Amino acid sequence: MEIRYNEKLKKLPPYLFIEIDRKKKEAIERGADIISLGVGDPDLPTPEHIIKSMQSAVAKPVNHQYPFGAGLLSYRKAVADWYKSRFNVEISADEVCALIGSKEGIGHIHLGFINPEDVVLIPEPGYPVYNTGTIFTDGVPYFMPLLEKNNYLPDLDAIAADVLKKAKIIFVNYPNNPTAAVATKEFYEKLIDFAKKNNIIVAADAAYSEIYYDEKPISFLEIPGAKEVGVEFHSLSKTYNMTGWRIGWVAGNKDIVAGVAKVKDNYDSGVFQAVQEAAITALTSSQKCVEDARKIYKERRDALVEGLQKLGWDVKPPKATFYVWAKVPKGYTSAQAVSKLLDEAAIVCTPGNGMGKSGEGYVRFALTVGVPRIKEAVERIAKLKF
Ligand SMILES: *Cc1c(COP(=O)(O)O)cnc(C)c1O
Repeated sequence: MEIRYNEKLKKLPPYLFIEIDRKKKEAIERGADIISLGVGDPDLPTPEHIIKSMQSAVAKPVNHQYPFGAGLLSYRKAVADWYKSRFNVEISADEVCALIGSKEGIGHIHLGFINPEDVVLIPEPGYPVYNTGTIFTDGVPYFMPLLEKNNYLPDLDAIAADVLKKAKIIFVNYPNNPTAAVATKEFYEKLIDFAKKNNIIVAADAAYSEIYYDEKPISFLEIPGAKEVGVEFHSLSKTYNMTGWRIGWVAGNKDIVAGVAKVKDNYDSGVFQAVQEAAITALTSSQKCVEDARKIYKERRDALVEGLQKLGWDVKPPKATFYVWAKVPKGYTSAQAVSKLLDEAAIVCTPGNGMGKSGEGYVRFALTVGVPRIKEAVERIAKLKF
C-alpha cells in the first residue's frame, strides 16, 4: 500500500530545530566536539524544591486519573496570584486554562477561531508554531516582518485593508524569540486599538517574560483594554528550566480562553495533575531560583556578546531572553555562516532566515552552555577567516 500524507502535512516546512538537532548529531558522529548554541532549551536543571514537590505529588492516587478540563482550580489561582504579584494584573481563575506546554495552546488556538481562508497575522522571523497551526486549519498566514529599524516590532500600519478584513488572530511575542526585542507599552496600546478596530484576537506569547537582565518586561495583559481583545500564553519551561515537564497556560479574555479549552476538551484530557502541583510550587515559592538563573544567563550573555564584539561582529546585548541575535559577517548569508561555524568550528547555531525571511543576514545563538564553553566558542570563531 502507498501511504499518502495529507496536503497540509506536506506544506509544513521541516521543523527547524529537529533539522538542527539532526545536523548536530551527524557532527557528533564524525567525532566533532560540538558547542551547541542552537535549540533554546535550558541546560540548567529544574530547581530541587520543584522536583521534590513533583515526587510527592506523583505518589498521590488522586493525581493518577484523567485531569480533564481547564486545570486544577488551585493551579489556575496560583497563575492568577502570580499575575497579581508580578504584573499587578487582576485575572480570575476562570480566565486561565492550563496547557501541556504553551506550544500546545499556541498550536491549537487556531482550531477554536480559524475557518478556511481566514488570515492569521504572524511575526517573522518567529516561533514556527504560529504558522503550523494556521496551515492545519486551512488559514492563510500573513507574515509581518520584524526589522531592526522598527525595533523588531511589527508595522501594523503596513498591513493592507483587504488583509485586515479577513484577519482573525494576530500573534505577537515579546520578549522576542529570536530577535530578543522587548515590547513597549506604546506598542501594546496601539495593538489593542488595532485589534478592537479590526476585530482581531491578540495572542501574545510571553514565554520569556522572566528571562531578563535589567528592566522587567511588561505583560500585554497589564495594558488597559487587553482583556477585551486577547490572551497571553505563558509557560514554566524557560522560567524554571521545565521544558520537559510540559506545562503552561493561556490567560486573559474569558471567551477566547473558553475557545481554547473547548478544543482541548476534544483533543487531550488535560495536564497531569502531579505536574500542575509541582507548577503551583514553582509559582508560589521563593523566586530566588529564577534570580539565580538570570545571573547565569547574564554572565553567558556578556561573555558571548563582548567576545563577538571584540571580533568585529555587529551584535548588541539583549535586554531579555537567552538568545543573542547577531548580524553575520559581511559577505555571508545566514546559511553560509551557520555552515562555516558548524564545519570549521563545531559550533551549532540557528540561521536567522530559518525562522522567517527577514531573519536573513542574522544568526541566533542560544545561551544554553556555560561560560567556559562560550569562551571556547569565541576563541574558535576568532580563528575562522570570516
Ligand atoms: C519555548 C517557547 C515557547 C514555549 O514552550 P513550551 O515549552 O511549549 O511552553 C513558546 N513560545 C516561544 C517563542 C518559545 O520560544
